[in-house]
Amino acid sequence: MVVLVNSGCQQHADNKQENSTVESAFYQYTQLHLGVQVRIALYAEKEENAEVAAKASFARIAALEDIFSNYRPKSELSALSTEAYRKYIKVSDELFFLLETSQAFAAATDGAFDITLGPMAALWKQARKDTLLPDLEALAAAREKSGWKLLELDVETKSARLRQAGMQLDAGGIAKGYILDEAMQTLNQHGITSALIEAGGDLVVSAAPPGRAGWTIEVPGAPANSPIQQRATTLTHAAIATSGDTAQFVEINGIRYAHIINPKTGLGNTSGTVATVIAPNGITADKFATALTVITAEAATALLRQNPTIFALIQ
Ligand code: AMP
Ligand code: MG
Repeated sequence: MVVLVNSGCQQHADNKQENSTVESAFYQYTQLHLGVQVRIALYAEKEENAEVAAKASFARIAALEDIFSNYRPKSELSALSTEAYRKYIKVSDELFFLLETSQAFAAATDGAFDITLGPMAALWKQARKDTLLPDLEALAAAREKSGWKLLELDVETKSARLRQAGMQLDAGGIAKGYILDEAMQTLNQHGITSALIEAGGDLVVSAAPPGRAGWTIEVPGAPANSPIQQRATTLTHAAIATSGDTAQFVEINGIRYAHIINPKTGLGNTSGTVATVIAPNGITADKFATALTVITAEAATALLRQNPTIFALIQ
């Protein structure tokens, strides 16, 4: 979990604009979304504007949760899973963007990042509950219904189709980052240019707080002089996400399995890796953090070399 070091204080002496006595003040709001406390911290000149913007931003988060949740049977994503077998279904712009981004990243990671692993994730959820590895037959069946190449997209009509019956899409490794981006965009549309939105340790920031060079975030485990911590010390227009087995894991027969699935085995990942990523936006940080816990060190090095805007701490 990353820690925000910026204080919530309102005194920023040097944030007055020339010919103006109006000063921005710091406001903070929290609401429960995405199964965690979501915090919006922002600077605004008027409290009224801050409140309206935060309210709109939370509403955007709630609306997107309705699209992407795989816990809600009526979410657009869940409905797509049941309706799109062998039939192209038109989806919302938001869902299409998420599916397209996920598929491109599945290709880039040789399938290590895979939003079609819903059947394996469901089986693994049960395994974690029972502290027992899934039955081999059930695992084989779940693997048949998972695989990013089984999801087909049609860019022209913004439609999606599934090639196997019983498939289940799971956007848990990427949706939160996208939702944070959209929540930030909503603040922007309300005139809020300097803000931080945080959900369960993942966060996005826009412009620097008044009079500062950027937001100061502490990346746990990162030495002060490491590139990622240096970057996080004056962060603007960027996002941070962390993935790994620190919070959610299960130990079975002495082996520690993460809640992130290794699509190659269909089981929880056993690398013990925790990845923290800084990227230009939330969706990118989120997908990279998840994938970097699954892929090998060599694959991670190659992937990061191809993506020079990403800072990662893999531990
Ligand atoms: P995160 O905390 O962002 O790493 O997301 C973890 C969630 O992503 C899990 O709870 C699953 O919903 C989903 N997930 C698990 N394994 C993978 C994977 N290999 N690729 C993409 N999403 C995954
Ligand atoms: Mg993720």
